[in-house]
Amino acid sequence: MRYDYLVVGAGLYGAVFAHEMARSGKKILVIDRRENIGGNIYTYEDMGINVHKYGAHIFHTSDKKVWKYINKFAEFNNYVNSPVAVYKDELYNLPFNMNTFSKMWNIRTPEEAKAIIEKQSQEEIARIRSERGEEASTEFEAANLEEQALSLAGRDIYTKLIKGYTEKQWGRDCKDLPAFIIKRLPFRFIYDNNYFNDLYQGIPMGGYTLMIEKMLGMAACEDAADNVPEGSIEVRTGVDYYDFVQMADGVIAKPFASVNGDSFEKIVFTGMIDEFFGYKLGTLEYRSLRFETESLPEVDNYQGNAVVNYTEREVPYTRIIEHKHFEYGKGKGTVVTREYPATWKHGDEPYYPMNDERNNSLYAQYKELADNFSGVIFGGRLGQYKYYNMDQVIAEALSAAEAEN
Ligand SMILES: Cc1cc2nc3c(=O)[nH]c(=O)nc-3n(C[C@H](O)[C@H](O)[C@H](O)COP(=O)(O)OP(=O)(O)OC[C@H]3O[C@@H](n4cnc5c(N)ncnc54)[C@H](O)[C@@H]3O)c2cc1C
Repeated sequence: MRYDYLVVGAGLYGAVFAHEMARSGKKILVIDRRENIGGNIYTYEDMGINVHKYGAHIFHTSDKKVWKYINKFAEFNNYVNSPVAVYKDELYNLPFNMNTFSKMWNIRTPEEAKAIIEKQSQEEIARIRSERGEEASTEFEAANLEEQALSLAGRDIYTKLIKGYTEKQWGRDCKDLPAFIIKRLPFRFIYDNNYFNDLYQGIPMGGYTLMIEKMLGMAACEDAADNVPEGSIEVRTGVDYYDFVQMADGVIAKPFASVNGDSFEKIVFTGMIDEFFGYKLGTLEYRSLRFETESLPEVDNYQGNAVVNYTEREVPYTRIIEHKHFEYGKGKGTVVTREYPATWKHGDEPYYPMNDERNNSLYAQYKELADNFSGVIFGGRLGQYKYYNMDQVIAEALSAAEAEN
């Protein structure tokens, strides 16, 4: 069989790219090493609830073109992300807003909140300066994340809502993390628990997997004019690229030539770029996650909110997700997932790229290799080693497809 493209990865990037090229009359083979399509946005159904297997995903964007595009494949509900944080026996609204401040200090007005934050931050700056023996006239510079957060938020918010959560996420003490991780804190002096500032947000009704199925021609779009031509995309799951290309001799050097009689004009690779090049320049680092999902047929409403963060360091997970609340589920039974941050090592799922100086400069070297490696387009979170949200991945895949046309 002759294909125009071999797309490695049936995640959002691979699916958008494959869809666009199929619409331009091309023939595409999509492979994924996982047994499922959708990459990290994959959802499956349990008791009628769409479970986000690889972590909670809320679609949000201010990009009108992307919003219009994604609505061809799903109808979005009006879910608004409003997480709550639990610290010991106290419960706070996120993001930091007047609901948070009024609960924390028993106050009502923005002026009162601003005054407390200002007072507490100045106290911390003065304390740090005096410990350093530093003049008050010089500009304050935080030496680490702890000092940065204390100087921006003061002691209460840092202790109750930032410290433990951040330390769990990064697996390191805040004193040992660089200050630049927190550039500023998005304080909102209005009573507004909407986490995102974007124009559009929501959850695709029926789950993300159905949305990807429509892109890949495995399910019909609402408007038949949006479907890909029949047979233009073939999808094979449980197929690792490295096993796949080794089916033929010497194909690694020019993998797109031919594999077991199949030929490909080009490859779109959405896996890890360093793995593609055999880690020859070194290993890029990631943060990983471990998910513990529990099906609770006897419980209707476990925590009353889709996302609850646990900000104490002593609680080993960072958050509990109750999936039914993403779609206002009313039925019997519920499914909850505890999310544990994990150090990444070879073989683990690479969830978050670590975009610090060392890794970004290593990635730049891999990118140079990639730019000189004709016939392969590197895309998506792993292929471009970027902390992309879904809307950014769609925009990137659309522009890669446009460049091909
Ligand atoms: C826990 C978590 C929560 C998130 N929450 C949000 C959110 O709320 N909102 C938001 O906008 N974004 C969120 N994101 C980001 C979002 O998941 C990504 O932007 C998007 O899924 C990336 O799509 P992708 O196609 O680039 O990568 P992926 O989804 O990672 O897909 C890549 C695919 O390639 C496959 N693959 C890799 N190597 C090989 C190989 N050698 N052979 C075959 N297949 C291979 C993988 O199995 C995978 O399926 C979140 C991410 C995580 C990790």
